[in-house]
Amino acid sequence: MGKTIIISNRLPVQLQISDGGLSAIPSVGGLATGMKSVHHGGESLWIGWSGLTKEDTPKELEADIDCALKEHGCSKVVLSQKEIDGFYFGFSNRTIWPLFHYFLEYTEFELGFWEIYKAVNQKFADAILEKAEADDIIWVHDYQLLLVPQMVKEKRPNATIGFFLHIPFPSYEIFRTLPWREEVLEGLLGSDLIGFHTYDYERHFLSSVRRLLGLDVSFNDVYLENRVIKVDSFPMGIDYNKFHTAALKSSALKGKERTDLQRKLDNHKKSAPDTKLIVSIDRLDYSKGIAKRINAFEYFLNKYPEYKERVRLIILAVPSRANVPQYQLLKREIDELVGRINGELSTVNWTPIWYFYRSLPFSNLIDLYTSSDIAWLTPLRDGMNLVAKEYIATRIDKTGVLILSEMAGSAYEMNEALLINPNNFEEQADTLKKAITMPKEEQMARNMFLQNRLKRYNVEVWANEFMDSLKRQRKGSDDFVSQKLNPTILNGLQKDYVSAKKRLLFLDYDGTLTGFHKDPQKASPDKELYELLDALHHQENTTLFLISGRDKATFSKWFLDKKYNMIVEHGVWISKDGNDFKLLEKVKGEWMEKIMPVLESFVDRTPGSFIEKKNYSLAWHYRSTDPDFGEKRANELNTVLTSLIGNDDISVLNGNKVMEVKSSNVNKGRAAVRMLGEDNYDFVFAIGDDWTDEFMFQDLPQTAITVKVGLKKTQARYHVEGVPKVRELLKKFSTGT
Ligand code: UDP
Repeated sequence: MGKTIIISNRLPVQLQISDGGLSAIPSVGGLATGMKSVHHGGESLWIGWSGLTKEDTPKELEADIDCALKEHGCSKVVLSQKEIDGFYFGFSNRTIWPLFHYFLEYTEFELGFWEIYKAVNQKFADAILEKAEADDIIWVHDYQLLLVPQMVKEKRPNATIGFFLHIPFPSYEIFRTLPWREEVLEGLLGSDLIGFHTYDYERHFLSSVRRLLGLDVSFNDVYLENRVIKVDSFPMGIDYNKFHTAALKSSALKGKERTDLQRKLDNHKKSAPDTKLIVSIDRLDYSKGIAKRINAFEYFLNKYPEYKERVRLIILAVPSRANVPQYQLLKREIDELVGRINGELSTVNWTPIWYFYRSLPFSNLIDLYTSSDIAWLTPLRDGMNLVAKEYIATRIDKTGVLILSEMAGSAYEMNEALLINPNNFEEQADTLKKAITMPKEEQMARNMFLQNRLKRYNVEVWANEFMDSLKRQRKGSDDFVSQKLNPTILNGLQKDYVSAKKRLLFLDYDGTLTGFHKDPQKASPDKELYELLDALHHQENTTLFLISGRDKATFSKWFLDKKYNMIVEHGVWISKDGNDFKLLEKVKGEWMEKIMPVLESFVDRTPGSFIEKKNYSLAWHYRSTDPDFGEKRANELNTVLTSLIGNDDISVLNGNKVMEVKSSNVNKGRAAVRMLGEDNYDFVFAIGDDWTDEFMFQDLPQTAITVKVGLKKTQARYHVEGVPKVRELLKKFSTGT
């Protein structure tokens, strides 16, 4: 097992230069803590930006910086001020951040930002490539590095790459407004595992992948031609013990041992024992809904004036991204709001809002959490919100009420909190009243559940679960259900092919010999395919069958002159040596009249779908429909048809974006076995890509070489990746004798 490489925008250490000296201090943030179990000893490397621009780094300290970082298992990516402006303050924080938090009106689509973002992502990818070895595991973090997985995968196809997004993934309707949406999705799909905080973000991502890239998604797997990517949710936890122990220690301190802030809070409590303290802590960010919260507080005080002088709101707003204009405007808005409300409502004994615009040391954060009766967090959109979890972890006697926006990822795991819609002032005013008057026993009962969950699923468990899943994904792709046709097996097959006395080949057409097209008539054979089929067809002792669900008119047009043997409509018709098609099976068609109107009603209600009427079967195609909607309709149709046909002689086949109704006694397996009985074959080969081909794989004898195209579960012995690989394989057969 190789080493683990972690990549994030910022390294988990802070560099400090003072009086020409240099020090590297480990950060205490959630991610750095969570990764402790992953990033330790000499077995892992963390790559990221050091926080110092190229311009700010004294040349003479370069080597010292590398050395100091190395001590912490870190390696730096050097970025210039211009790169930071375009990549971090630009594309990351003026495009992706607002868009992914549903603030379309703040989202800037600037080609210049995008270009720098791409270039800087390439820098990060190059830094990985320089350090990574073949069996390393690579874990990429967050929205600043969306393109890195693909950039690494391109150069190192065998690398195991995980990606975790720490912010929301928006709904398709929002995501699709991004001019570079395909590139972003493709960037992420370089990963083997993609993690989100919640199932909703995962669902939005999968929907975008299907709709924008047209890729096959089954449950939470995305199928590429040569790989399967797993998408899953891993809600990030906190370092529960750190917060809980700090709260315990702080409560044990006496008199002067207590912090200044704590003593002031103690005095306040003593002088106004009936006053409830409500705390809110966030980075100063428009996604956190700070201004709305202040307005809602004013609304509450007007609706329930009896609480004037009996509640106080403490707002800690941590400065953030002050270079971005939107944040400067927000700062001004909040300053003004707090000023106005305090000006209007304050009395000699009471200021309704205490407002701090700064970052506080950890000990003071604990003071605020432990001294506040209520935590009130109202993000309009938040990937997770760790403050909510931290507040609960510090409640050592289990009292305290958490009011949390349902738009925060953490709300999914914190059902026992009072969940609110931050846009609903009426609901918030009533919820504040409920929180203020909530009996202690109820507070404790709710917090007991919350604490147990946070203790169990802490940040270390989160990191380990992600890593374990990533390792399983790597292993899983090695031992796929069928065996991959690697060069050794291929050479063996070619040898058997050459030495065989009589060969029988069954080749499916769509998805096997040629790719799919929105209009099936346009997926006609190309010159290369004709040449390949001609070569096989003219080989001595070789019987070639094209075996397909297509209708006989189309195959007659494409192949009759060529005299290839053909079985169409899944086994209803057969043509040999250029002769007209004959019935291979006795089939009935009366049922078609009854089923046709049902299919027509589905066409009417499903834009983009159409019916293909064959002689003895009806196919409903939905490749050109909206993918989610098409799948939904296909399920519906399946239910309707199954109940309609009961145990009759007809059955429904689910092909690749097509649903076909046909006689039950007809399938490719049955047809293939009949052909097999016509002579003594010692090399039997069948290849196909979809569900209808499984009949062949199942019914042909065990000695047959059966090959599935694509990575889906199959009864075939082998699989190949896609049409180009099928053609390569057949070319080997055609030139091997
Ligand atoms: N925090 C901090 N210093 C402060 C205030 C808050 O380090 O003065 C921390 C807080 O403990 C929490 C983090 O900042 O861990 C905020 O995380 P959250 O998920 O709530 O929001 P984000 O800033 O990631 O959007």
